[in-house]
Amino acid sequence: MSTSTRTEGAAAPTGPDSFFSVRDLRVRFSTEDGVVKAVDGLSFDVERGRTLGIVGESGSGKSVTNLTVLGLHNPKTTTVDGEIVLDGKELVTATEKELEKLRGNKVAMIFQDPLTALSPYYTVGRQIAEPYMKHTGASKKEARARAIEMLTKVGIPQPKVRVDDYPHQFSGGMRQRAMIAMALVCDPDLLIADEPTTALDVTVQAQILDLLKDLQQEFGSAIVFITHDLGVISDMADDLLVMYAGRAVERGSAAEVLRSPRHPYTWGLLSSMPRLGGSLDQPLSPIPGSPPSMLNPPSGCPFHPRCAFTDEVGGDRCATERPPLGEGRAAACHLTAEQKQTLFIDKIQPRLR
Ligand code: SF4
Repeated sequence: MSTSTRTEGAAAPTGPDSFFSVRDLRVRFSTEDGVVKAVDGLSFDVERGRTLGIVGESGSGKSVTNLTVLGLHNPKTTTVDGEIVLDGKELVTATEKELEKLRGNKVAMIFQDPLTALSPYYTVGRQIAEPYMKHTGASKKEARARAIEMLTKVGIPQPKVRVDDYPHQFSGGMRQRAMIAMALVCDPDLLIADEPTTALDVTVQAQILDLLKDLQQEFGSAIVFITHDLGVISDMADDLLVMYAGRAVERGSAAEVLRSPRHPYTWGLLSSMPRLGGSLDQPLSPIPGSPPSMLNPPSGCPFHPRCAFTDEVGGDRCATERPPLGEGRAAACHLTAEQKQTLFIDKIQPRLR
C-alpha cells in the first residue's frame, strides 16, 4: 500500500484517475409515500493517504452515499445511478460477490455505534480474526496473533487477555477502538468513518481521532470521514465537502472552506457551532427551519427556504434555478464571488469571533 504526504491547505488532485472517485451519484428509495431522492448528483474524489470530510445535517445524504459505496443498500427498493470507482474498479455495477470480496478487505467502515458492528455473541478477538482469515487465508493461530497485534495498535491494555473478552466487557471507548481494529485488520485502502466519535466523551473522542490519524500514516489509507461536527473535521480532514439535500454545496481543502466559506449553508453551520475560546456573550445562531423532505425537495436552490440571502441574488432565481457546483474550490450558490466575500466579511465573520 502506498503512502502520500498531507499538504495543508491544498486541495487533492481530482479526476477520473483518482484512487476513489464518485461521479454524478444518484440514490433513490421507493417508499409508500413516494420516491426519496437521498443523493442527487454527487461527485467527489479521494486520494490515498488523504482524508475527505463530508459534513451536513441529518438527512443530507452523507451516510446513504457511503452505505451505497459498500453496497449495503436494499437493491429491491433502491435505485443507484452514476459511477463509484475504487482503484479502477467500478462498484455500482459490481456483483454482490465482488462487493463482498472488497468489504473488510479493500474498503472498511467504522460506525457511530460499535454495537451495530460487533456481535455480542463472539469474543472481540474472534471478530477481528475472522475477516483476516477470510481475506488473507491465514490460519486460526496467525489470525489470533494478528488480532492481538491490532488490539495493541489501537491501545487496548493487556491485549493478550482482552482478546478473549466479549464486547460487553469493554467500555464504550474500548469498543470503538476494537471496531477500528476490526476495520483495519486487512489494511484497507479506503476507510469510511461515519460519525465515529459522536457517542464518545470529548477526551475519548480526541484519543480516537489521534488514533485514526496515526493509523492512516502507518497504513496510507484514504479516509472518508462523515460528521455533522465542523470542529472535528478541522482536526481530521485534508479536503471538505459540505452536503445539503443530497447534493454537494461547497467543496475545497478543509483549511480553505473553514477559513473562508463561500456558501450560505456553510456559513449557517459555522455560526451555529460553539467556538473554543469564543466570547460567552456571542449567541449561537442556529440555521432557521429544518432540512427539506427528500420526498419533495424544494425547486431551484434546495437551501432557498432557509436562506437569508435570496434578496441579494434578486428576483426568484434562488427558488427557480438550481445553482451548479463548479470544479475545484467551489460553492453552488447564485451570489457572485464578490457578494460572497463581502457578505462573509461583513455579516458572518463577526459572529464567528
Ligand atoms: Fe441562498 Fe440563493 Fe445562494 Fe441558494 S443560491 S444559497 S438560496 S443565495
